Amino acid sequence: MPSAYAILSDNYLYDTWTSKEGLPHNSINAITQTKDGYLWFATWEGIARFNGKEFKVFTRGAESALADSGVRTLYANSDGSLFAGGARGGLVKREPHHWQAMTPIKNLINAVLRDKHGGIWVGLQGDGLVFRETEDAQDQFILPSISIYKLSLTENGDILASTSEGLYQISTNTPQKITTILELQGIPVYSTVQTPEGMLLIGSKNGVWTYQKGQLKRFNEQLNNVIVSTIIIDKAGNYWFGSSRQGIYYFNGKKLSRFTEDDGLPNNNVLSLYQDRENSIWIGTNSGLTRLRKAPFSSWNQKNGLQGDFIRTTLALPDGRVAVGSSNGLNLIEDDKIYSFDPTFKYNTDKKQISVLSLAPRKKSGFWVGTAENGLFKFEQNRLEHVALEHLPTQQIRAIYEDEKEQLWIGTTGGLVKYSNNQVQQLFTTKSGLPDNYIMALTQDALGKIWVGTGLGVALIKNNKLRSLNIDPLEQAQYVFGFHSQKEYMWMATDRGLIRYRYSDDSMAIIGQKQGLPLDKLFQVIPDSMGYFWLTSNRGLWRISQQEINAVADGAIPQVNFVHYSEVDGMPTAQLNGGSNPAASVDQSGDIWFATAKGLIETHPKRFSEIIATKFPAIIEKVTADQTTLNLNTEQPISLPAGTQRVSISFVGLGFISSEHILYSTKLEGLQSKWTQRGSIGVAEYTNLAPGHYTFMVNAYYPYHQDTINNAQFSFIIEPYLWQRIEVQLALLGLLILTIYLSVRWRLHLLKQSELKLKNEVEQKTQALRIQSSAFERQAREDKLTGLHNRLAFDEWHKRIYSLSQSKTNLSIIMLDIDHFKRINDTYTHLEGDKVLHKLGHLFSQLEQRNCFIARWGGEEFVFGLLNWQKDNVYALCEKINHLVKQQDYSEIDEQLVVTISIGVVNGDTSTNIETLLRHADEALFEVKNNGRDGICVYKDENN
Ligand code: GH3
Ligand code: MG
Ligand code: MG
Repeated sequence: MPSAYAILSDNYLYDTWTSKEGLPHNSINAITQTKDGYLWFATWEGIARFNGKEFKVFTRGAESALADSGVRTLYANSDGSLFAGGARGGLVKREPHHWQAMTPIKNLINAVLRDKHGGIWVGLQGDGLVFRETEDAQDQFILPSISIYKLSLTENGDILASTSEGLYQISTNTPQKITTILELQGIPVYSTVQTPEGMLLIGSKNGVWTYQKGQLKRFNEQLNNVIVSTIIIDKAGNYWFGSSRQGIYYFNGKKLSRFTEDDGLPNNNVLSLYQDRENSIWIGTNSGLTRLRKAPFSSWNQKNGLQGDFIRTTLALPDGRVAVGSSNGLNLIEDDKIYSFDPTFKYNTDKKQISVLSLAPRKKSGFWVGTAENGLFKFEQNRLEHVALEHLPTQQIRAIYEDEKEQLWIGTTGGLVKYSNNQVQQLFTTKSGLPDNYIMALTQDALGKIWVGTGLGVALIKNNKLRSLNIDPLEQAQYVFGFHSQKEYMWMATDRGLIRYRYSDDSMAIIGQKQGLPLDKLFQVIPDSMGYFWLTSNRGLWRISQQEINAVADGAIPQVNFVHYSEVDGMPTAQLNGGSNPAASVDQSGDIWFATAKGLIETHPKRFSEIIATKFPAIIEKVTADQTTLNLNTEQPISLPAGTQRVSISFVGLGFISSEHILYSTKLEGLQSKWTQRGSIGVAEYTNLAPGHYTFMVNAYYPYHQDTINNAQFSFIIEPYLWQRIEVQLALLGLLILTIYLSVRWRLHLLKQSELKLKNEVEQKTQALRIQSSAFERQAREDKLTGLHNRLAFDEWHKRIYSLSQSKTNLSIIMLDIDHFKRINDTYTHLEGDKVLHKLGHLFSQLEQRNCFIARWGGEEFVFGLLNWQKDNVYALCEKINHLVKQQDYSEIDEQLVVTISIGVVNGDTSTNIETLLRHADEALFEVKNNGRDGICVYKDENN
C-alpha cells in the first residue's frame, strides 16, 4: 500500500511508493504500461512490474535476460511487447511470460523505440543514435558522438531525437533525411513531444520551447530557467513538465501551476512522467514514485477556510448552500466558497465562537443551530442569532426538529422539550416514559409520529402520547444515532448496526455484524440517487445496496455486500463523526456531505463511475504445481504429472485506481460448475485433483460490478497414473470380469460335481431303499421257512387273475396236506419238522412253471393255482408231486422217515368263484384223508 496521501486542488490524490513499498531503487528512470495492463518502472536496480498490489522486480539474470540491472528506458510496443535498455548497452524484449535478449549495443542506452515500419531506434549516451531496420538487422549509426536523451514519434511517424546537441527529426522512410532546429543547436534537449495540433513541445536545459510552422518560441517565461527533463500531454490535453530540482509544472490550457515536495511529491527532481490507461499521472522522481489520481472525495478543512476541522454536523440547505457546524463555529459553503458567521451572543461576550452540535431546517427561512454549551441559535438572513428558550434541561442540543405546526422539538442531554412560539409545550424525560434523557436524533414520519433517538433506545410520540420501542432484542442495541424515514420503513443507525422498522406489521430487523457488517456502530444512514445507502462510522464509509439491505432484513439472503471507503480512497480520515445531528446530508444535486474528525468531505455517487474504470485486465500471474512454478508462456494446456497434489494459481485484476477494492470470483471447470467468491484474495489453491482436463477462470471486479467481465483463464491437464488411464482401467475391468466369470464357472463346476455326487448318493440310497422296500414287500409275501409264496401272495395273485379277465379264467386248485405231520414233530422234534417243510418247499419251487402259482397255505398245507391248465396236466402234476414227495431223501432226519401227502384237486371249469373252488379242493382233500391218506382226489361236481 502506498505510504502517503494528500489532497491537491483539482481533486487529485497523491499516492507515493518508495523502496519501502518494494521498489528496487528510488530513482524511477522510466515508466510505461504494456498492453496486458502491467505498469513498468525502470530503475538502476532493475525493472519493477506493478500489479496494483505489489512490485515484481526483474534484475540481471537468466529470467530477465538483462545485461545489467541498471535500466534507463522502457518502450511499450503496440503488439504487447516491451523493450528495456540500460547499462552496458543491454537491450531486452519482453513478451508476456518471456524475456529475450536482443543484440547489445556499446554504451549506456538512454532511449529506445520501434517505428511504424518495425525499425528499432536506440539512443545512446555519448554514442549517438543507432538504427536497426529489423530486430535482427545490422546497426546503422546515425548522429554519432552525441548523447541521445529521449526518442519520441511524430504524428506522421518521424523520430524526434532529443539530444545533447539540440533536437533532430529523422524520417523513418529515409533515415538519412535528418532535420534540425538551428536555434536549438548546442542546447541540450531532454524531452520532446508533439501536441495533437502538430506543435512540438521541447523541454530543454533552459526551459520549454514550442516549435510550429518553422517558428521556435518560448512556451512560458516562468519556465525559462527550469531544466525540463520530461514532458507528457495527458488525454485531456493538459501538459505536464517534469523538471530537475523544481518539481512538476502543469498547464491546463489556461494556467501554469506547480507541484513540489511541499505538495507531497517525494522529491523535486523528476525523472519520468506517464499517464496510464486509467488516466492517473505517474511521476518518477529520484526519491520514489508518485501517482496522481482523481479523487472521488473533495475535502474542506480549516486550511481551506472552515472554522474548524472537527466537524460535528452538516446540513444541505434548499437554496444550494451547505451549513457546516464544527467545534469552532459555523460555516456556509456556497459555490465552493466558505463563509463564516460571528454569533450575536449576549451572554458570553468574550467568546466569539460557538461549538456547533446540531442543525435543522427552519420552516420560515434559514435554519436552527444547536450548540454544545449555549443552547439554540437561529440562522436567518445571514445572521446567527441566539434564541432564548425557557426550561431547556441542558444547554447541550444534539438534535432539533421543527414540525409542520412550527413546533420546535429540542433534544438535549437532559431530555426532550417541545416548544411552540418559544413557549414550553411539553417536557419529556425518563419520568414521562422516555427510555433515556440523552437525545441524539429526532425525525418525524409520514404518520406524524416524532421519533426520538436516545442513548437507551427509541421513543415515538404522537398527540403527546409517548411509546417506547424496545430495540434490545436486536443484538442489545441501545444508542440510536440517526434516522432515515421512508414510506414503508424507518431506518435507524445504532450502536449494533442498522435497524429497519416496518410500519405494515410493526416488525424490526437488524443488519449488523451477523449480517456481514464488519463493525457495530453506525452514525448516519443517507440514501443516494443510485439506490445505495451510505452509512457513516468511526471506521469509514460503507456503501450498501438498499435492495440488498431489504433482502437481508426480509430474511431472503443472509448477508450484505458493501464497499468500504477510507483513507486509501482519498478521505482525510476514516473517522466520521456522529451522535449529533445531522452528521451527514445529501443536497439537491445528489452530492453527499459528511462530517469527519478532519474536515468536511463531499462526494457524488456518480464520481466513482467517472473516475474508476470498471473494465480492466485480469491476469494469471503465477501457477505452481507442488512447488514447481509453471512456465505460462504457452498456448497449449500445461500437462501436470500424475499424482500432482497441489495446484496454486495467483491472479490479479490490473485496476490500479482502486485496487484495494477489487474482488475476485473463480471457477475451475472440470471440478466446479459454479463460481466461487474469493473476496480480495488473489490466490486459489486446489489439492488432490483427479486426473483430467481443467480450465481455471477468474473474474476480477469492483463491488457491485460483478457483471463486468474482466476475465483470465488458464488450462491444464493432470495426467493420470498408468492405472488411472481409461484404457488401462478398461483392460483391468475386462480382466476383472474375466476372473469373476472364470471363478463363477469353476464354482459352478464344483457345485455340479458335488451335486452329481449328491445325486449319486441319493440315487444309491434311493436304490437301496427301493431294494429294501421291495425286499420288505417280497418278505411280506414270502414264506420264510419254505421260500414259497405265502397265503397273502396267493390271495393277491388269484384276485389279479380274476380282475384281468374274469370270464375266460380257468383256475384249477391243488390243495395238499402232509399226512400225520403231528407225529413227525412228535417223533423228531418240531425243529426236524421244519426241515421237512423246508425240503418240500424247495421241492415244490422246482415245480413252479408258467401259469402255476405255488404258496404255503398255512401249517403243513400247500396250494397250487393253475391257470388255464388242461385237466390231464393238472392230474399229472398231482401224481408227480405225490411221487416226488415220497422219493425225497429225508435221511438227514432219519433213514426210516417216509413222508406222504394227501392231494385234493378241483378243476377250473367247475367254478369261477375262488371261494367255491378252494372249498371244493378242501372237500376233495378231506376225501383223501378219509380214504386213508397218501392219494389224490379230484372234486366231482355233483351237478355234472
Ligand atoms: P392228518 O394225517 O390227519 O393230517 O394228521 P396230522 O397229524 O398231519 O394232522 P393234524 O391237523 O392233527 O396235525 C397237524 C400238525 O402239524 C400239528 C402241528 O403241530 C403240526 N404243525 C403245524 N405247523 C407246523 C410247523 O410249521 N412245523 C412243525 N414242525 N409242525 C407243524
Ligand atoms: Mg393238516
Ligand atoms: Mg396233516
